[in-house]
Order: sequence, then structure tokens, then C-alpha cells
Amino acid sequence: MEDQARIEALRQKLNQYSYEYYVKDQPTVPDSTYDQLLRELTELETAHPELITADSPTQRVGAAPLEAFEKVTHDLPMLSLGNVFDETEIREWVERIERSLGRATTYVAELKFDGLAISLKYEDGLLVRGATRGDGTVGENITQNLRTIKALPLRLREQETVEVRGEAYMPKQSFERLNEERTAREEALFANPRNAAAGSLRQLDSSITASRNLSLFVYGVGVNTLTARSHSEAMEQLAQLGLPTNKEMKTCQTVEDILAFITYWTAERATLPYEIDGIVLKVDRYDDQEELGFTAKSPRFATAYKFAAEEVMTTVEEVDFSV
Ligand code: NAD
Repeated sequence: MEDQARIEALRQKLNQYSYEYYVKDQPTVPDSTYDQLLRELTELETAHPELITADSPTQRVGAAPLEAFEKVTHDLPMLSLGNVFDETEIREWVERIERSLGRATTYVAELKFDGLAISLKYEDGLLVRGATRGDGTVGENITQNLRTIKALPLRLREQETVEVRGEAYMPKQSFERLNEERTAREEALFANPRNAAAGSLRQLDSSITASRNLSLFVYGVGVNTLTARSHSEAMEQLAQLGLPTNKEMKTCQTVEDILAFITYWTAERATLPYEIDGIVLKVDRYDDQEELGFTAKSPRFATAYKFAAEEVMTTVEEVDFSV
């Protein structure tokens, strides 16, 4: 069957790209290519649900953790996000949410930081563990490396026990300086700040991580031990605990508010001192989030609007959609 052969070819290609991106931190194609192929696979699997397998790239998050690090099983899986690419898809996403809930609801729009997803566990206010997302279930223990990030508090302002989630990233300035130094030493350059951040955090020598000037934004909680009843309330509590949250988040009552936020940041993203690759939309109220639930790979109450590709990579292969 023609579709079956295409499905298998797409899976093979996507698995290869994921390995290059997540394990080697050296992507060979732009994200837009990966996203387009993944979408094609999703559509084919929707047409042929009997062909979906548990190990298909549509069902999996990230990649298995590196052997060099101690493994960490997340108390609550660290999932991915669904994607929307244009105004029509944003409107459809909002309509789907409101149809499911049977009424309108409030959203939060946030910047989508282009770095590495991490989990930080605090016990009685003390940082006890920092981990990568890994394959969503099992990540890598990178506590020592995360401790070198100056924006990350080793102790919270209160004796709270909480697991928070966020994105470790490399500011644009640190990235440019790093690649200048590497040029001078005739070393291979990093393709982009995301790959540089991921490579810097997965070093066996923490002094290398420390020299890379990484930073961090916290964007949510894992196992929720806070009293907050909404995402926006939780973000206020995390900021009060001394965690670095991003001030650009915005509460949106309507799809027009969401579209205005996206239009603004599409134009202004270059002015930020860090890279973003899109906008994340989240349903604000936790009871609404619970009602909407999850798919195998991502929550239904949140999605990511991805900016159209703009970067030309230094190492991009000829893009071959025929796989
Ligand atoms: P994703 O990047 O589309 O979305 C999920 C991630 O967004 C979360 O894990 C979190 O780390 C991050 N995030 C940033 N800001 C956030 C915020 N404010 N709130 C919540 N989350 C926020 O999904 P993914 O599963 O991490 O990976 C897919 C991405 O990796 C896609 O962009 C894809 O193109 C890229 N990728 C590229 C290649 C390649 O070869 N170029 C290969 C594999 C994956």
C-alpha cells in the first residue's frame, strides 16, 4: 500500500532528524522541515489509525536520555505541545476548546523560548534536583550543571516543596561570543542558541557549562503543590518565590487578543535578547485544563504557534520532501 510505504519512510527520516537534534545537538534540517514532515505523518496516521504504532514519532516526546547521565523518572511526564501555524488554525484551536468546555474561557499567551525544557525540584525551599525532559518519562540528572545558572535560585524565598518547569536558554549575546571564541580556536560552530544551550547543559564538566552564561525562564509547575487555581496565579506565586518568570505573558479573553499578541511579537522578536520560536497559548483556569485533558503526547489545553522559518542554517541539507 502506497500510504504505508510513505508512513514508514517518514518515520525513518523523522527518527534520524530527532537523533541529530536531541542526541547530537546538531540538526541537519531546519525545524520547519521537521514540522512539515511530522504533520504529513500525523495526517496519514489520522487517515489510517490502524497503522499507528507506539514508537511512531507522532506518539513520542524528545529522545531517550544520554547514558552518560544518571536517569531521572519524572513524577509527572514532561510532554510536548501541539502546533498551530496560521490564523485559521489558531481560530480552530480556540473553537475546539470552547466547544469542548461548552463556553468561552480565558487564555494566557506567552513567548516560546527556544532552549531546553527542564524540571527543577525544590524540597522545603532547597533545589534538590534538576533534570532534562528526555523522552518525557525519563530525563537526565543535570543538577550540577543547572546550579551554574545564575538566574536559578538554589533556595526559594519560602520553604516551599514544588516541582517547576522551564526553559534553559543561551542569550543571543552569549551565543555570539561563544561562536566568536570557537572561530578563533578553529572549533566547530553551534548552529543556533538552542543547540548551544542543549550542548552546554549536557557537559560532564560543570565548569564548561558555567563558562557558557546560560539563563532560565520558569513557565509552569509539574506536580502541583501550590494553592493557585490558574496558570496565571501560579506564575505570580513562582515569581514571589524568587523564580525567574517572563514578564511578557498576557491574559487574553478573545481570539482577537491572541492574534494581536502574535502579530506584535512576530514583528518585535528580534528586539529580545534571547531567541523565541513561537508563542505558547494556554487555557488559564486549572479546572478547565483538567476538563480538557491530554493526548498521548501533549496537553489539549495548550498549543504552540510556530513562527514561519526565517533562519538559514549553516549545515542544512538540500530539503528533500520526497524522503
Ligand atoms: P515544541 O518545542 O514544539 O514545544 C514544547 C516545548 O516548548 C516544551 O518542551 C518547552 O520546552 C517549550 N517551551 C518554550 N516556552 C514555553 C512556554 N512559555 N510554555 C511552555 N512550554 C514552553 O516541542 P518539542 O517536542 O520540544 O520539539 C519539537 C521541536 O523540536 C520542534 O520545534 C521541532 O521542529 C524541533 N525538532 C527539530 C528537529 C530538526 O531536525 N531540526 C528534529 C526534532 C525536533
